Amino acid sequence: MKIEDLKGLVQDVPDFPQVGIVFKDISPLLASAKARKTITSLLATKYKDKEIDVVVGMESRGFLFGTLVADALDASFVMVRKPGKLPGAVVQEQYDLEYGQDTLEIQQHMIPKDARVLIHDDVLATGGTALATSQLIEKCKGTVVGYSFLIELDFLAGRKRLKHSPVHSLIHY
Ligand code: IMP
Repeated sequence: MKIEDLKGLVQDVPDFPQVGIVFKDISPLLASAKARKTITSLLATKYKDKEIDVVVGMESRGFLFGTLVADALDASFVMVRKPGKLPGAVVQEQYDLEYGQDTLEIQQHMIPKDARVLIHDDVLATGGTALATSQLIEKCKGTVVGYSFLIELDFLAGRKRLKHSPVHSLIHY
């Protein structure tokens, strides 16, 4: 499958989750085994020589391709979640979303010191979620080697906020 074929499967949903937002629905990409395999391979190929120790995915759609990419890179996978979902000691970071403000958490012991970390999410919008995640990794003394997104909303310029590590996205709008 080509990038244009993948792009053709993404559904625009107007006024979701609130009026004025055009939501990119990746459900049809998940439904297709061919699309899943193509996406995983293309996302992982970009980082295959970067000695990634840990792929970190953000709740909840970042878990989907995050784990598949971790498989392909033979790396660990670690969850970043909304508050109160992870047991034990966690570190926290506040962040701005496209639609509001929230907090993210990670289990510090899951990131070994100096681990080489790839941050993955389904969509890069304003960059607030990814930036907060990179700050969580720094608090854990890991190294952010790069960012990997399935979709990037170029018009929101989120990558400008992620200037310390390379950003790679498969599908651009
Ligand atoms: P940001 O923090 O503004 O970059 O927003 C990124 C987060 O919001 C990601 O975790 C996405 O899952 C979610 N998000 C933002 N816009 C969309 C969208 O159009 N489709 C799916 N998820 C989105």
